[in-house]
Amino acid sequence: MVIREPETLADVSKTAPPVDLSVVVPVYNEVENLDALQGELLDALEPSGLNYEIIYVNDGSRDGSAARLTEFASQTDGVIFVNLRRNFGQTAALAAGIDYASGEVVVLMDADLQNDPADIQALLDKLDEGYDVVSGWRRSRKDRFLTRRLPSILANGLISRVTGVQLHDYGCTLKAYRHEVLKEVRLYGEMHRFTPVFAAAAGARITEMVVNHRPRIAGVSKYGLERTLKVILDLITVKFLLSYRTRPMYLFGTAGFALMGGGLLSILGALIQRFAFNVHLNRSPLLQLAAMLFGLGVQSVLLGLTTELVVRTYFESQHKPIYIVREVVRKGE
Ligand code: UDP
Ligand code: MG
Repeated sequence: MVIREPETLADVSKTAPPVDLSVVVPVYNEVENLDALQGELLDALEPSGLNYEIIYVNDGSRDGSAARLTEFASQTDGVIFVNLRRNFGQTAALAAGIDYASGEVVVLMDADLQNDPADIQALLDKLDEGYDVVSGWRRSRKDRFLTRRLPSILANGLISRVTGVQLHDYGCTLKAYRHEVLKEVRLYGEMHRFTPVFAAAAGARITEMVVNHRPRIAGVSKYGLERTLKVILDLITVKFLLSYRTRPMYLFGTAGFALMGGGLLSILGALIQRFAFNVHLNRSPLLQLAAMLFGLGVQSVLLGLTTELVVRTYFESQHKPIYIVREVVRKGE
């Protein structure tokens, strides 16, 4: 028998029998947590009566996680093990799991037992109230205050303000998504936390729900304070993608004109100095400032033009429309 290799990842999820629920778990050096996790997941999912799959994605662990997960997948129905070649980062691991998921609903969660599988049912119930995304909120979060909770509070406030999507806890991995809204979202860098923002931009209905959070008992956290900087840099990208993706010239052009306006004011200042206060032009720094501002302004407009070209390539090479349709109604259908 010839088994044809699926050509793309999307084919995999098409050929697999569709299930109600896919739980996607990224795993990086979590071997001490895996047995308990698998037990808790089965305890939570078995009684639900749902047709489910658990997708463990090993993100290049070096601690025996892969061997343990291989055992789970070969012993237990509904467990799929996706083994990445090296450590690609949590976002990439989640994206891989999503690509292999065939569930109508996809739940994402951490492997370190900080998220509680017992919350999954409540997330699904909330989703059934008519939402496309239910985001977990670790209201009593069990992590260090200064290095984790404080930066997180500030980041969540900032993200909510900048993106207009109000959530208390972007960083919580435990979230439930309708599969179709995830299809619209491509994840890069460390951007999995912004998934609800992209989903909202694609028209998804979003809500949040308080979930249990537990201290990490085994293994170590993979992140430190440096993550905060990455989150802020990602936020700039996200804001740009959300607001200016189809019209970058408005951003760069506006900045360009503002800079040139500053240049004009600067020349004006130099002239006032010259004629009202008799300061010679070659003695005033304002002329240099004006030259610099004009130069930057012109650069910014040119950058806007370049970006317009890049954006067209982006949309047209992928046949991406600049809109997303929820439904079309016609007489007789
Ligand atoms: N993780 C991963 N790849 C990485 C880093 C982390 O798959 O490069 C996984 C990790 O195994 C865990 C989840 O992502 O299941 C969250 O990581 P961690 O608990 O270290 O983050 P924290 O809870 O401290 O924010
Ligand atoms: Mg954790």
